[in-house]
Amino acid sequence: MPETLVKPKSKLRWLDYRWQLSNRARSAPALRQLIDLLETNGYGSHRFPAFKDEVFAEADRRFRFAVTPYYLSLSSGEAQCPIWRQILPDERETNDTLFTQMDPLAEESHMPVRGLTHRYPDRALWYVTHSCAVYCRFCMRKRKVSQSSSAPRQSDRQQALDYIRAHPEIQEVILSGGDPLLLPDHELADLLEELRRIPSLISIRIHTRIPVVLPMRVDRSLCKSLADFYPLTMVTHFNHAREITDLSRLAVERLRRSGIQVLNQSVLLKGINDSLAVQRELLLGLMGMGVQPYYLHALDEVQGVSHFKTDLRLGTEIIAGLRGTIPGHAIPRYMVDLTGGGGKVSLEPSSVIEETADALVFKNYQGRNFLRLKQES
Ligand code: SF4
Repeated sequence: MPETLVKPKSKLRWLDYRWQLSNRARSAPALRQLIDLLETNGYGSHRFPAFKDEVFAEADRRFRFAVTPYYLSLSSGEAQCPIWRQILPDERETNDTLFTQMDPLAEESHMPVRGLTHRYPDRALWYVTHSCAVYCRFCMRKRKVSQSSSAPRQSDRQQALDYIRAHPEIQEVILSGGDPLLLPDHELADLLEELRRIPSLISIRIHTRIPVVLPMRVDRSLCKSLADFYPLTMVTHFNHAREITDLSRLAVERLRRSGIQVLNQSVLLKGINDSLAVQRELLLGLMGMGVQPYYLHALDEVQGVSHFKTDLRLGTEIIAGLRGTIPGHAIPRYMVDLTGGGGKVSLEPSSVIEETADALVFKNYQGRNFLRLKQES
């Protein structure tokens, strides 16, 4: 169905998340319209590169395209722009011969009930919606995200809650999707209320890209509702310093003032954030806005994303390069989620370069070697 774009009459409508959602581009023609709309209203650039309708159509059959006016307005419009690259369908998505699995992390086979992945004994990941404000081309859950056939049903929710209640070894539930912050306030509050009634549950975490792609959704009403469920942890997903804006800062500030701990996980993506300089700028930007860097993920081996793949060792080199140059608590852990469903492992650069019977030899952040006896005599 062709989309009709509504021109914002004032900046106030730009700040209305419902306007942002209903004016998302979901096709190549709608993207052209949206670019025009942004340019006309002074929100965008004139230099967007050409893109092909047929690539959209082909990629869309496997994983939908959608972008909010806000997120698109962050793009410089150049082909190399890190925003553009995260959202634009690419023909390599449809002829990926390197990554061949749709569910390499075996989430589905670890689901005791529909939509609830229980891989580690102490926590469960709950898929509460199939929708996102923006569809990221590297998404590891593209087998179901964006597809209405995978939308959770009321009966799934009940079964998931029953399962969590019946398994007191689950101490933490992670609300994920899709983006849980796209649920209406009252629906999200209902889920949180049910979870809070489970005495064995110590922690509730919400994974979301909303502060990055639709920060105006983090309004006073949402924050007031979330504040009732203190303590909550929210894990955002900023991949590049270009995503840090006054509006995303405000969203994080509102969340933190509502008593919510805000962490960030990012994915190491070729051509987007695969350098020490870009990572340093991102991490310092996150710290400056009150977000605690948590994980840097190696790309999951999902079919259609291998053009974003970096060398697996690059992440450890970046972490090593960050040491001694930014505050230690701003350095995330580099994580690899094992293909086959083995779970996450951290891949940290080692500081020990040699071990003898009596001593360890360390390399410090400057690359200088220091020897330390194992036991002081
Ligand atoms: S916001 Fe998350 S779940 Fe949604 S498309 Fe992006 S990576 Fe996938």
